[in-house]
Order: sequence, then structure tokens, then C-alpha cells
Amino acid sequence: MKKKKLGLTSKILIGLLLGLVFGIILNGMPSGYFKDVILINGILKVAGKVFINAIKMLVVPLVFVSLVCGASAIGDVKKLGRVGVKTLVFYVITTAVAISFALIVGKIINPGIGLDLSNIVKQEPTIGEGKALVDVIIGMVPTNPVASMANGSMLQIIVFSLLMGVSMALVGDKAKPVIDIFNSLNEIVMKMVMVVMEFAPFGVFALITNTFATVGFEAMGSLLKYMIAVVLTLLIHATFTYMGILSVVGKLNPIVFFKKFLPVAGVAFSTSSSNATLPVTIEAVENMGVSKNVASFTLPLGATINMDGTAIMQGVAAVFISQVYGIDLSMQAFLTIILTATLASVGTAGVPGVGMITLSMVLQSVGLPVEGIALIIGIDRVLDMCRTVINITGDSVCTIVVSKTEGEFNEDMYYSKKIGDEVL
Ligand code: ASP
Repeated sequence: MKKKKLGLTSKILIGLLLGLVFGIILNGMPSGYFKDVILINGILKVAGKVFINAIKMLVVPLVFVSLVCGASAIGDVKKLGRVGVKTLVFYVITTAVAISFALIVGKIINPGIGLDLSNIVKQEPTIGEGKALVDVIIGMVPTNPVASMANGSMLQIIVFSLLMGVSMALVGDKAKPVIDIFNSLNEIVMKMVMVVMEFAPFGVFALITNTFATVGFEAMGSLLKYMIAVVLTLLIHATFTYMGILSVVGKLNPIVFFKKFLPVAGVAFSTSSSNATLPVTIEAVENMGVSKNVASFTLPLGATINMDGTAIMQGVAAVFISQVYGIDLSMQAFLTIILTATLASVGTAGVPGVGMITLSMVLQSVGLPVEGIALIIGIDRVLDMCRTVINITGDSVCTIVVSKTEGEFNEDMYYSKKIGDEVL
């Protein structure tokens, strides 16, 4: 019999579990040369650091290329006029709401309080002092975009990329060769992400072992609280925001939507990829009465730029990491997180694991240590599955409401018990 090859998700989970067990054993071992020098500060440190560095390495190219591509896609928005503008507004507002929920839930659950890692990664508190808002706004516009990229100044890179992408869309046909190059670059950067992710099982093992070897069981409770906070916020967003929008703006029964959407959610959950789910999403939404016209534009756009679930993870993660490192987030830092996570959601491609990489952009924008990712990357795969469901739910709810308000919606189909050839 042919042996089945283990998928990346399973490998990462195995790395996580082994790291957990190994870390706890190490934690119980007395200090000594082998434990402290060879393992913790030797092999594990190198493996973990190399993995985190590889992630950091990808942030600037990924954000730059994917934002340029995303923004250049608004060429279609122009063509679609009102539908396009409505969709964009909807996407941006729901993402901002999602991340605000995440910050609130994060501050209520306080997943990182009680776990002190400030001694593991020395980090000067960079928030607290807080720049004045005017300075942040002035600082967002780079005088030298190349320097911004070299320094990893995320807000500046975002502004430059968006301007470039939108300008490419405005130029139209003449920009086509460059748009093609950027689309091809996008594929390449995504491949780089995939290649780095192949090493994730080892990286995760090293990082988790190190965490548990140093802080022991303490870390487990905090990580669990972090996961609960993310999942809870995803549920809150689905219940309040999506159900609210469907019933109040769309004047539709939201329960019908969720029932019919369940199979699509299953695909998103198991693939952790909005892109991979796209064909199923389009079919389901069209079967719910949305016109092809609208669905074929809003859903691919949503799978590329609208990631409410990802933004939620990033919000909770920012709160968690700030607490673990004992860094206070000022009000202004929260606003910056809302802004950058909304944009990070635009820059996150609809494939597994990318949200973790764009998280570093959110962390950097408020001066939080990117090393904090080490703590949560091990358990991210599970959360990725959950947040992808919310990502595509957001795209679909928006599509339904936009098509309804545009008179491009067949309400009989929405309430019909039949989906395609199947009867519910
Ligand atoms: N896996 C997510 C998606 O495809 C993106 C992410 O958050 O990593 O929607």
C-alpha cells in the first residue's frame, strides 16, 4: 500500500506537539551546559531565529507587491462604478469593525497578562512615549520610498504601494506590461512564502520548545486564552456584523444564508485558503440569487483584499504580544493597529499562513517585537482555518447585500429550498 504523504498542516501540528512535550521536559531539567548552551542558546535558538528572520525577510516584498497588485485591480472598480465603490467601502468598514472587536476582546480577555517574556527578548518600550498624531500622519508619506523599504517603515511602504497601484489602474492599457510584471512577481513572492513555510514544522518546533523550556506551563494557559480570544471575536463578528448587515441592510433572513453557506465554510476551513475556496464561494453565492455580474467581480476582489478574520487574529495578536512583553499600547497605537491591520488585510493573499507574515507589519507599525510571532506561530494553523471561514463569509455577505441594493438579486432563489440540483 502506498503511504499517504503528510500535509504541511499535520507536519506543523506535529512540530507544535513535539515542541510542547520537549519544551516541558527541558523545563523540568536542571540547568547545565547541555540544556542551556547546546540546546536553548544553541540549536533551538538558531533554528527559531532563522525561521523568524526568513519571515521578516518576506514582509517588505510581500506587502509591496501584493498591495500594488491589489490596488491596481481597482481598474475594474472604475468599470463597475457604483457597485465597485460600494464593495470597497463595505470591505474596508467591515474590516475596521472586525479589528476593533478584536482589540476590545483582547483587552477584556488579556491573554498575555501573567506570561512575562520581557526577559527573553529585550525590548525597549517604544510605545508609551507616543508620537503626536500629526507626526504619524506626516510620517506616513515617505520622502524616499527606497529608504522606507530599507528601513521597513510599513506605513510609508503602504502609502507608496497604494499610490503606485492606483496610478497603474488609472493609466490603464499603457500600464498593462507593468501590471503583468507585478502579477508575476506576486506569484513569485507567494512561492517564496510557500518555500519558507515548508520549514515551518522545524521552526515551530524550535520556537515552541524554547518558549516552554523557558517559561514552562505558564505559556500554555496564555496561548489557550489567545486562541479563545481569536475564535470568540470571529464568532462575535459573524453574529453581530454579518447577521446585522444581512438583516438590516439586506433585509434578508441571515439564518438562511448561514445554512446554505455551511458547505463553503467547510471547504474554507479545510483548505485555509480563500483563493482555493473561491470557485465554491462563487457558486454558492450565485445559487443564493446574486447575479453573475456582481459575484464575478466582488468575490475574487474580496478573496484578494478583504480578510476580516485575518485582521481579527492580528488585532488579538498585537494585544497579546504587547502584554507578554510588558509594552503598553497607547490609544494612538490602537488606532494605528486598526489602520495597519485593515491595510494588512488588503496585503494578505488568500492562501494559508500569509496572515502571520503580514502580522509583522502590524507589529512593526507600533513598535512591538516581531519575535512575538514565535509564540503564536505554532498554533496559527488551527486559527488560520477558522479565520479563513470568516474571510470568505465577509466577501459573500458583502456580495449579497451589494447585489440586493443594486437590484441584481433574486430573492426567490435565496429562500428556495433548492441549491443547484440538490434539495436542502
Ligand atoms: N489563510 C487566509 C485566507 O486564505 C489568509 C491568512 O490569514 O493567512 O483567507
